[in-house]
Amino acid sequence: MIPASPRPRFVLRGGTIHDPLHDRDGVIDDLWIDDGMIVPRPVITAGFTVVDATGLVVMPGGVDLHSHIAGPKVNLGRRLTPSPAADGRHAVPTIDATGCLYAALGYTTVFDAAIATSAARLAHLELDDLPILDKGIYLLAGDDQRVIDAAASGDDAAIRRLVGAAIEAGRGWAVKVANPGGNLFWRYGRRGDHHDLDTPLPGLALTPRGLLDRLATAVDALALPHPLHIHTANLGLPGNWRTLDETMRTFEGRRAHLAHVQFHSYTGGDLDEGSFGSGVEPLAERFNAQPGLTLDVGQVLFGDTVAMTGDSEAAAHLAHATGVPWASHDQHLAGGCGVMPIRYREKSLIHAWQWAIGLEWYLRLADPWRAALSTDHPNGAHFLAYPLLMKLLGDEPFRREAFARIHPAVRNRSPLGGLTREYSLQELCILTRAAPARIAGLPHKGHLGPGADADVVLYRPDADLARMFAVPARVYKGGDLVAEDGEIRARPRGAVMAATPTPA
Ligand SMILES: [Zn+2]
Repeated sequence: MIPASPRPRFVLRGGTIHDPLHDRDGVIDDLWIDDGMIVPRPVITAGFTVVDATGLVVMPGGVDLHSHIAGPKVNLGRRLTPSPAADGRHAVPTIDATGCLYAALGYTTVFDAAIATSAARLAHLELDDLPILDKGIYLLAGDDQRVIDAAASGDDAAIRRLVGAAIEAGRGWAVKVANPGGNLFWRYGRRGDHHDLDTPLPGLALTPRGLLDRLATAVDALALPHPLHIHTANLGLPGNWRTLDETMRTFEGRRAHLAHVQFHSYTGGDLDEGSFGSGVEPLAERFNAQPGLTLDVGQVLFGDTVAMTGDSEAAAHLAHATGVPWASHDQHLAGGCGVMPIRYREKSLIHAWQWAIGLEWYLRLADPWRAALSTDHPNGAHFLAYPLLMKLLGDEPFRREAFARIHPAVRNRSPLGGLTREYSLQELCILTRAAPARIAGLPHKGHLGPGADADVVLYRPDADLARMFAVPARVYKGGDLVAEDGEIRARPRGAVMAATPTPA
C-alpha cells in the first residue's frame, strides 16, 4: 500500500495577522499549520518548515456566500456572451477558470446561490471540476409544486420532509427562494407583474409572505447551517423598498438571510412621492434593529457583465424595459432563469443609482458581522471586481472621486455624498471572510484559530487597496500553496459541502 503523502507542516513567521473572530487586528504573530489545519504552537517545533511572512498582511481565505458559477443559467450566460468584455474578462468564465481566478484572488470557499432542485446533479457535475475551492449550492426547493401545495394546506411536516429530501438528494447546503411563488405567476402568464407579499399566488390560498414564513420554519426545523436565503419579490422595480421592508417585518425575532439587497432598495413607483431613488435609510434602520437578519449587497460596478436570475419575472421586466436580447431557461416549468448581457454605465441614471445604493448599504451597516461583500457575481459585476469594491469602501477620497463622475441627478439626490465612513482592513476582513463564514454556517472557516482550515491569504500592504487585494502574494488552501502573485501553483480538489438535515 502506498502511504498517503504527508501534508505540509509549516509556520508562517512574523506576519501581520487579521483574525476578527479572535479580536486580532494587525497583530504580529506566527501561524502554525499542520495537516491542513491551523494548530496551536506545538511543543516540539522540529519538522515545521519556516515560511517568512514578515511585512505581509495575513487573513483567512475569502468566502463568497452568494455567487453564480454552475448550472443551467450559468451555461446559458456563457452562450449569450461567448466573447470577452471590453476589459478582456469573460463575464462568465468556464468552471475551471472560475476556480483558478477565485483562488488567485484569495478566495477559498464559494457557494452557488440558486440551483433548481432538478438541476442539482448538473451543478454538482460542474462543481466537481471546480479546482481548489471548497464549494456548495443553495437549492430553490420552494419552487417545487409539492412544497407549494403543502404550504398552501399548512402542512409543515410535509414541507419539512420535502425540503429535507431535496437537500439530501441534491446535496445542498441551504434553501434559496427567488421571488417567493413567482414561478406560479410566471407559469400562469402574468409575466413581469408587480405583486406584493400579500397578493395570493394564482389559484391558491397562499401568499408569498406565507410561503416565506413556512419555508423558513422548515429550514430552522431541519437545523440547516444557513438560514432561509431570500431573494424577495419585485427585484429591480421602482418602489420595491417597501417589499424588502415587509420581508424584514415577516422575520421579526427570527433568522433569515436577505440576498442582494441593493436590487431591492428602490423608491419610486405609484406609492412614493418623487422618482426612482434610494430607500436604504429606513431599510438599514430596520435591518440594524433586527439582529436575526443577515444580508449580502449585490453591488453594481460599472462595466460589462451578464444578469442571470432564477426570478424569470424580473428578467422579463428588465428585458422588456431595456430592449436587450435575453433568454429564459425553464426547468420543467417548476422554475426558470432569465439571462441577458448588461453594461452598467456611470452616466445612466438607473445604473448610477444602483451603484450608489449598494455603497450606501455598506456604509449604513451598524455591524459588519451581519453582512457579506458580494456583487452577486456576475449580476452586479464580476467577482474579480471585489478589490475595487473594497477600495470604494476603505478609501473615502477615492469613493468621492468616483461619486463625482456619476449621473448628476444621482449626485444631487443620493445620500452617499454625505457618508464619510471608511472601512478599516479589519472590517474589510470581516465583510469578505469572517462574516460570510459565520453567516453561511462554517465554523471551521473565516478565522485563524486552532482547528480552522488552513485557508490563509498573504497580502502585500498597499495604500491602494484595489491593488493590494487584487493579487495576493500567497494563497494557501488547506495548507497547500495554491497561488502566488496571481499564478496557480497547485490544484487540490476542494470539498463539496452538503448539509445534513436533522431527521424528522
Ligand atoms: Zn444571486
